[in-house]
Amino acid sequence: MSFEQEIKRRRTFGIISHPDAGKTTLTEKLLLFGGAIQEAGAVKSNKIKKGATSDFMEIERQRGISVATSVLAFIYKDKKINILDTPGHKDFAEDTFRTLTAVDSVIVVIDVAKGVEEQTEKLVEVCRMRNIPMIVFINKLDREGKDAFDLMDEVEQKLGLHVTPLSYPIGMGYDFQGIYNIWEKNINLFEGDSRKNIEETIAFSDIDSPELEKIIGEKPANKLREELELIAEVYPEFDREAYLTGKLQPVFFGSALNNFGVRELLDCFIDIAPTPRAKESDTRLVAPEEKKFSGFVFKIHANMDPKHRDRLAFVKIVSGTFERNKPYLHVRHGKNLKFSSPNAFFAEKKEIVDISYPGDIVGLHDTGNFKIGDTLTEGEAMNFKGIPSFSPEHFRYINNADPLKAKQLEKGVDQLMDEGVAQLFTLEMNGRKVIGTVGALQYEVIQYRLEHEYGAKCNYENFPAYKACWVLPDDPKNEEFKEFKRVKQKFLGHDKHGQLVFLADSEFSIQMTNQKYPSVKLYFTSDYH
Ligand code: GDP
Repeated sequence: MSFEQEIKRRRTFGIISHPDAGKTTLTEKLLLFGGAIQEAGAVKSNKIKKGATSDFMEIERQRGISVATSVLAFIYKDKKINILDTPGHKDFAEDTFRTLTAVDSVIVVIDVAKGVEEQTEKLVEVCRMRNIPMIVFINKLDREGKDAFDLMDEVEQKLGLHVTPLSYPIGMGYDFQGIYNIWEKNINLFEGDSRKNIEETIAFSDIDSPELEKIIGEKPANKLREELELIAEVYPEFDREAYLTGKLQPVFFGSALNNFGVRELLDCFIDIAPTPRAKESDTRLVAPEEKKFSGFVFKIHANMDPKHRDRLAFVKIVSGTFERNKPYLHVRHGKNLKFSSPNAFFAEKKEIVDISYPGDIVGLHDTGNFKIGDTLTEGEAMNFKGIPSFSPEHFRYINNADPLKAKQLEKGVDQLMDEGVAQLFTLEMNGRKVIGTVGALQYEVIQYRLEHEYGAKCNYENFPAYKACWVLPDDPKNEEFKEFKRVKQKFLGHDKHGQLVFLADSEFSIQMTNQKYPSVKLYFTSDYH
């Protein structure tokens, strides 16, 4: 297969949802279709159960699982499909945001009864900002839920999307009969649980055929015809270009648990979903077809075994091929690195590969060279954009609790920050360290890992910040900026890259700063340049 063909057959995407909507179940059914797993139950859910906050075993279990399910790859109809796992737990939202920089499209799973939930809103917003193509899968049709039209309205309003259904449910819950596939123009009948085959699919090029009454009954047949007519009036026709540019989102209905509507989703997905997309770097747009390799690190995972401190850096390949034992430029360090055992991912296994293509993810063993956002190239000095740090929502001082282990603590904190577990700020005034996180759970993870992996002990103290604002003065030499620095002295620090950060204690204080020092610009993410 040629290089171009290899690129064209790849589909790299993420499934996003609010916890419990059915992401794990859908992932598993997709893998079953790909023949990548043989039985249901093989894909482990990586969610942290409610109330497990202080259960360290649970955190460890979670970390183990999330390595295993970080990338799930399989072949379906000759397409190489890479599913990137995105944690649903809100305390790990930043992990998910970063993973979204490495996907070429997403599938959004929504529970038919619960509709659009909080986490879905946040994640879709990130995708929308980046114009990532999205397909919506409305799940659990075997249960009583919201009316399909109402739900599509809700999706448009709450998520700011423009949808068009490509399949449509016949009944719901107890009366659920199946799905009319608008994309393929056929009906797929639902016959209770675990229907695995697709033999009951009936082609219906003419929905007015009296056959329809015979199959689903008179009332449902009329209702379906009416609703399909309404769909044709209300919703735009599917347009692939609009989908690819993030302007239109097709909607599918089904029941992941019953493996129903999943094949339709997958078949349409491989037809319409984008092949690996070009990516913007700080100097230019990089196309996947370019012969020279480039890629970036979007995730780092520590080894589960504390005796082996090496980590796995996940690299998304943007262009060219990644080859084993070939030297590549680590742009930030300005030095060449070779990798003798890059991992590729298949289903839940990983294995050493010689060559990988754009769209693929390789896992590189790392002893501390990488941090999230690093770019690797075949010599070109450029950096991929779009992996910002988001403002944390929790802030605490971190103190050393074992004076003999200061070095270990420093190293541990340093490495955990590189992994993107949390963000470290050093206060300008007294050099004290403040750790900022998206969720409170991270503090326990950090404390536990510092102790078990680095032999260091820490404790925390509250730091009364509300948000981290990255500071960019119009003119670093003007009086206004000097005054700002003087007045806010206690709240100023530097992030890991040395950038100035204002740790504001309230929304009010941010507003006052904006008013009083208009030439000092405040940003809530680190990618303002
Ligand atoms: P995740 O948190 O989004 O990964 O959700 P899971 O895939 O773990 O599913 C959450 C719960 O919903 C589990 O108990 C599933 O068995 C159930 N579930 C998933 N899909 C369906 C479905 O189509 N119908 C019904 N009735 N339950 C489902």
